[in-house]
Amino acid sequence: MLRDSEGCPSGSPLECFKGSAYRNGMPVAAIKPFILALDQGTTSSRAIVFGGDGRIVATSQQEFEQIFPQHGWVEHDAAEIWRTQLGTARDVLKQAELHAEDIAAIAITNQRETVVVWDRETGTPIANAIVWQDRRTADQTDALKTDQASRLIRERTGLLPDPYFSASKIRWLLDHVDGARDAARAGRLACGTIDSWLLYNLTGGARHATDVSNASRTMLFDIHRLAWDDELLDLFDIPRTMLPEVVPSSSIAGHAIADILGKETPIAGIVGDQQAALFGQLCVSPGMIKSTYGTGCFMLVNTGAEAIESRSDLLTTIAWQIEGQPVQYALEGSVFIGGAAIQWLRDGLGIIDSAPAVNELGASVDDCGGVCVVPAFVGLGAPHWDPSARGSIHGITRGTTAAHIARATLEGIAFQVADVMDAMASDMGVSIAGFRVDGGAAASDLLMQIQADLAGIECHRPEITETTALGAAYLAGLAIGIWPEMESLTATEQQYRVFRPTTDKPTREARRTQWRRAVERSKHWVE
Ligand code: ADP
Repeated sequence: MLRDSEGCPSGSPLECFKGSAYRNGMPVAAIKPFILALDQGTTSSRAIVFGGDGRIVATSQQEFEQIFPQHGWVEHDAAEIWRTQLGTARDVLKQAELHAEDIAAIAITNQRETVVVWDRETGTPIANAIVWQDRRTADQTDALKTDQASRLIRERTGLLPDPYFSASKIRWLLDHVDGARDAARAGRLACGTIDSWLLYNLTGGARHATDVSNASRTMLFDIHRLAWDDELLDLFDIPRTMLPEVVPSSSIAGHAIADILGKETPIAGIVGDQQAALFGQLCVSPGMIKSTYGTGCFMLVNTGAEAIESRSDLLTTIAWQIEGQPVQYALEGSVFIGGAAIQWLRDGLGIIDSAPAVNELGASVDDCGGVCVVPAFVGLGAPHWDPSARGSIHGITRGTTAAHIARATLEGIAFQVADVMDAMASDMGVSIAGFRVDGGAAASDLLMQIQADLAGIECHRPEITETTALGAAYLAGLAIGIWPEMESLTATEQQYRVFRPTTDKPTREARRTQWRRAVERSKHWVE
């Protein structure tokens, strides 16, 4: 049972719980009801309990194995994903001293595009999950780079033919796992992204569904008609019977069985991780942008009820859908190497001993001394899309030091983000004044200031950067009425620290011109 505590705002319509919620390191009264957000990421499963005021009550995290069977292949053991996710869910309740009856709803957010195929009878995966980073189907998607197939994919799904998305991975499993195609034709197999897999397990096999945001990353979903597309299913030779039902992101998609937490609990929010961060940052009006600085950088701009087709090779994607309301769309630009470039300074070059140490080293010089680092380690994503580009360092002289390289690496991350911002501004036909940031590397004040200076745009960093889990929790809370409508979410809005541009336009333009030259020299490097 929840305990009322002293310290609740007087006259608050919500009950308070004196638990282990913290703000600025100080314990505070968290407000019930609570939402359990499951944040299933690429390297770890996390569970976070949020109070009804949007504050974090407790967090639990478990890493799991990354499996690399061959060069360019990346797999996860789907059973381990489920085990670690369930483990963190139970652990976080224990930490928060809460019981199942205290949890009003479960929310799911997840690594996108990664696919699991499992047997409907036994609930057992037929193979490891193929992860979004996996490139094994590059030949399959290269064959789709004809005008006709590209146009079909672009028009229906808003995506480009690339192994990144789910469709070619599902086909690969059907083609390579013994007996899989026959079993699929006979209706014995189910497939889905990680959200579907978690939902299926949480509901004891009762529900096979996904939300519109995850469906929009499969390359099989018509984002305008909101339905699986038969022509695309034919193109990838995937039987329709394998696919999950598609539900709104904010709706009751099913109930977790009592075995999971101790009592049946509604699962009221499902949303892909980048879209969740957009919602968690409350970028809920057209034109609002968030940029996540994790391993890679992911920028999304809300385009409202309109699916804008990009002229700059950004992706059109579904942002979310709240039950009973029109679907909301976004334009997305992904930069493959963001914080990973900082890890390379640490692990590859050995010039820093931890990621945060880049800030001191980079700040020890006033500028990059003419050095430009293009972190195209795995090719270039949006808006360049050149898989054959590779990383490069330009402008080295006898005077170049590790500090210049460190600073130029931070600039390389910021330049890539600025390129995507330009593409977004051009697609939207507006100039961008500011955007919201999150992710591990957004903790760097130096990177954020460099970003503002090179893009000429304000960066707004929230106090809590756990925006992915928060976004999913918000969507679940809307579905069950914790927050009666969107406006009530803004009451939970956080404080932002603003990084303002300090450079003038000519300086900025000169730096961008140099960067463009460096990018051109990095392109078409490998055959
Ligand atoms: P992901 O979710 O992709 O695993 P995170 O959002 O956890 O990534 O961010 C991790 C990245 O952030 C790492 O690549 C690391 O280099 C970078 N990072 C973490 N802390 C800092 C810091 N204080 N300064 C600069 N970069 C940082």
